[in-house]
Amino acid sequence: MQPNHVCHGYSKEHLEVAKKKDQDCRALFPRNLYVERLLEKAASLNVLFLNSQVEEQWLYHPEHRALCIWLPDLEAGSLSYLVVMLAHELGHVLDFDARPWYLDAIRDVPWFAAPLEIELSAFVSGFAVLQELDIPITLEQYCQMIEEPMAHLVDQVIRQELSLAAAVERFDHWRRIAS
Ligand SMILES: [Zn+2]
Repeated sequence: MQPNHVCHGYSKEHLEVAKKKDQDCRALFPRNLYVERLLEKAASLNVLFLNSQVEEQWLYHPEHRALCIWLPDLEAGSLSYLVVMLAHELGHVLDFDARPWYLDAIRDVPWFAAPLEIELSAFVSGFAVLQELDIPITLEQYCQMIEEPMAHLVDQVIRQELSLAAAVERFDHWRRIAS
């Protein structure tokens, strides 16, 4: 996507405020080569970092290209955790750009009820971002940072043993059995 096609949906005044917050948030990340690459990737995608208002949640708001991060994680989270979270969120950014119909799927839906496909796909796209940026994390290490049963499905989709649609079906099936 061309940067000049990107609309943040902010007024000029609000954009200045958001840019200041973005700089403040970026400065709070630990200094690390791989974190740096991910932050650069976010900047190249015209994503602004903001502080999350939802406890312990990192959330991407596609309509504002805003990535809201839970600031305490930047101090308390391990480096691997931060790398995986950033990768996952950048996965969302790429997915929403590539699949505009995802926007309709989350309209009027609270963050915790986001469709499974969108979460699963963000992990798949996130791993591709790590590979693109030459960040040395194996698929096994990556999946260790993800909760089950999501981790298992992410692993299978990335290995191309399962399509995204089939993985979503399988998850729904497990959920029905478990409930
Ligand atoms: Zn997500």
